[in-house]
Amino acid sequence: MSQSIYKKRIFLSSPHMSGNEQKYINEAFATNWIAPLGPNVDAFEAEIAQYVGVEEAVAVSSGTAAIHLALLLLGVGKGDRVFCSSLTFIASANPIFYQGAEPVFIDSEPDTWNMSPQALERAFHDAVKDGNLPKAVIVVNLYGQSAKMEEITDICNQYGVPIIEDAAESLGAKYKGKASGTFGKYGIFSFNGNKIITTSGGGMLVSNDREALQKARFLATQARDAAPHYQHSQIGFNYRLSNILAGIGRAQLEVLEERIAARRAIFQRYFNELSNLPGLTFMPELTNTFSNRWLTALTINKNQAGISVSELIEVLSQQNIEARPVWKPLHLQPVFKDSKYYPHKLHESVSEALFNNGLCLPSGSNMTEDDLDRVIHHIRQSVIKRKERANMINT
Ligand SMILES: *Cc1c(COP(=O)(O)O)cnc(C)c1O
Repeated sequence: MSQSIYKKRIFLSSPHMSGNEQKYINEAFATNWIAPLGPNVDAFEAEIAQYVGVEEAVAVSSGTAAIHLALLLLGVGKGDRVFCSSLTFIASANPIFYQGAEPVFIDSEPDTWNMSPQALERAFHDAVKDGNLPKAVIVVNLYGQSAKMEEITDICNQYGVPIIEDAAESLGAKYKGKASGTFGKYGIFSFNGNKIITTSGGGMLVSNDREALQKARFLATQARDAAPHYQHSQIGFNYRLSNILAGIGRAQLEVLEERIAARRAIFQRYFNELSNLPGLTFMPELTNTFSNRWLTALTINKNQAGISVSELIEVLSQQNIEARPVWKPLHLQPVFKDSKYYPHKLHESVSEALFNNGLCLPSGSNMTEDDLDRVIHHIRQSVIKRKERANMINT
C-alpha cells in the first residue's frame, strides 16, 4: 500500500475553537459553577433563542436527548407511530425506539435531499386508511440544507400532526428568511464535536411554547417535584448541559457567522474546481433557502467519472484525507429492517440513489488553503487518470 507523503490528516469536520472559550470556562471555575446548571447555561439558552428567533431554548446533554424530550412532550408512547426522514444519522430515530414507538421512514426528494412531500403525503394517506395517524413527524435538514418546509408544514397541518425539526446539522441555515429549526412545534440543535459549532457534546431544544419547555427542563432534571425531600411522581432523565460546556457554546456562538461563511466558501471552492469534471454533481441549494453548508456533499456517476464513491474514498484515505459516504438511509439499517418505508415515487427511492453515489468531502471551517488544494488535487487526479485509462481501453 502506498504511504501518504502528507503527515497532516485532513478531517471531515473537526472542532474549531475561537480562543474565547477559555474565558467562559475560567469564569465557571472562578465562580465554582461546576454543575449541569449555572450562568453559562442560562446565557447560552437565551443567546440561542435570540439567534434563531424563538421564545425559549433548553440546553441539554445532546441533540439526541433534545429529540427524546420533544417526543416525550408530544406524548409519544408505546405503539404510537412517528414519521421520520430516512436519509439521516441514526440519532434522528433512536428516541422513537426509546419510547417504544414505531418509526415510519420517509424518502428524500432530489431538490434538497430531504423529506419528500410526495412520500409524506402517501404515508399520511395510508395512515388515515389504517386509522393510525402518527403522533409526530421528524423532519431532518441534511448537511445544513433545509427541507421543503412550506410543503411539509402544509401537509402536517392538514392532518393536525406536529413537526419536530431536526436541525442538528443546520444551525444558522435559513428557509425563506426564517431560521432553520423554528418551523416545527419543536426544533433541536446538536453541538457534538463534528457540528458547525460545538460544546464537545451538547444539544438544544427550542420552541415558542414556554410552558412545554418548562416541562422539558423538569423532565431533563430527573422529574423532581417541587418538594424539599426529593419527591418524584413520574420518570425523568438526566439530560441537562454542564455549565462548563455551555461556556464553550457561548464562545462558539459568537463566531457562528464566520464559521458559516468559511464552510460556504469551502463549498464554493470545491464547486468551482470540481464541478466541471464528468459525472460530479453537487448537492443543490433550494431557491430562497440559505444552507450553512455544514458538509460539502456531491454525487458521483461512476460511468461518467470512471471512479466510484468507495474507490475515491479509498484513494483519499491513502492520502490521509477523510471523506465519507452520504448517510446510509435508516430504512436500510439492519436494526430497522421491519419498519415501513415510503419512497419518493412508487419505483424511485431517492435516498438509496444518494447513498449509492453520494460523497461528503472534508469541510471543516479550520481547513487551510493548502488542505483544500490537496483534496481538490487528488480528486481531479483520480477522476482524470481513471478517465484516461478508460479511454485507452475503449480505443
Ligand atoms: C448529530 C446529529 C444528531 C444527534 O446529535 P447528538 O448531539 O450527537 O446527539 C441528530 N440528528 C442529526 C441529523 C445529526 O447529524
